[in-house]
Amino acid sequence: MQKHIVVIGAGPAGLESSANLSNLGFRVTLVEKEEVTGGHLNKWHALFPSLASGKHTIEAIVKGLNPGIKIQTATKVTGIEAVNDYFTVSGHNGWQEKADAVVLTTGFQLFDSHRKEEYGYGIYENVITSADLEKQFASGKEFVNRQGKKPERVGFVHCVGSRDEKVNNLHCSKVCCITAVKQAIEVKQMIPEADVFCFYMDLRMFGRHYEELYKQAQEKYNIQFIRGRLSESTEDKDGNIIVKVEDTLLGKPLRIKVGLLVLMAGMEFPPATKALTNMLGLKNVSDGFIQPLDEVLHSNLTEIPGVFIAGTCSGPKSVSDTMADARSAALAVAEYLK
Ligand code: SF4
Repeated sequence: MQKHIVVIGAGPAGLESSANLSNLGFRVTLVEKEEVTGGHLNKWHALFPSLASGKHTIEAIVKGLNPGIKIQTATKVTGIEAVNDYFTVSGHNGWQEKADAVVLTTGFQLFDSHRKEEYGYGIYENVITSADLEKQFASGKEFVNRQGKKPERVGFVHCVGSRDEKVNNLHCSKVCCITAVKQAIEVKQMIPEADVFCFYMDLRMFGRHYEELYKQAQEKYNIQFIRGRLSESTEDKDGNIIVKVEDTLLGKPLRIKVGLLVLMAGMEFPPATKALTNMLGLKNVSDGFIQPLDEVLHSNLTEIPGVFIAGTCSGPKSVSDTMADARSAALAVAEYLK
């Protein structure tokens, strides 16, 4: 009998796990709550550091999928039950499957920047998030602020909703430093005369070519990196944003006027996945993400035999790390079902 695996969540981790499991000879059902597969990548204009299109990356992954994989979209998983040596997985619309193993690839949600009221998101029109900026890039329209003007100065605020006790998120979201560098360069390419600032606490350039991109941002594009946390932003009568920041390297408070302020929203564990982990009785660590059985030796296994994890449901990851994690999860499932 061909073993059957249900993969929950059709972002890059779910798609890549499914592709690998199917290639290994398993029957795979991939279930997704949205109408389309691809997750956050569908909305991401360009990925760092290569600037490859998010949408094209997803299209390339989907194109490589074995046609035998059953993709069940628009289905929110509402139940998982372990019955003897298999699982019954059910959806809100009556969909139900039996599975020999389940892979959770439910991803992350972006931090809701409204929660940092002092930054002015949702209050001032020219305060936007990194995701809003990607949407603007993807539209292909001229780069202007909400008043239709080319901003003379643009600010990027790092660590929004990450490494922040006030919002109960101590973790680093890993990818927002390099995303800020990438987006700052894209803004400079569109408006070379603009002054662009990044307000950061620490710069985490851990991936391959990240450091080079950061160097390029400083040397080629003259982007200014100011070490300090933003304390508040206000608006002037022309819609400009005045940011107050303490430059911790110079030890001076600064007030800078920008035409557009971009908040680098971090990653959080989605409440919908919390419901699934509760159903299964899985442990979540203090940051909310799912705890693997062993972070070094068994990072795709959970404490429940037959339930696996891949991608950002077990912590923030870049797209390339997510893809590698998904392939590793497929091998862990194969090992278990052997
Ligand atoms: S990657 Fe950078 S911006 Fe993102 S949370 Fe970590 S330190 Fe902050």
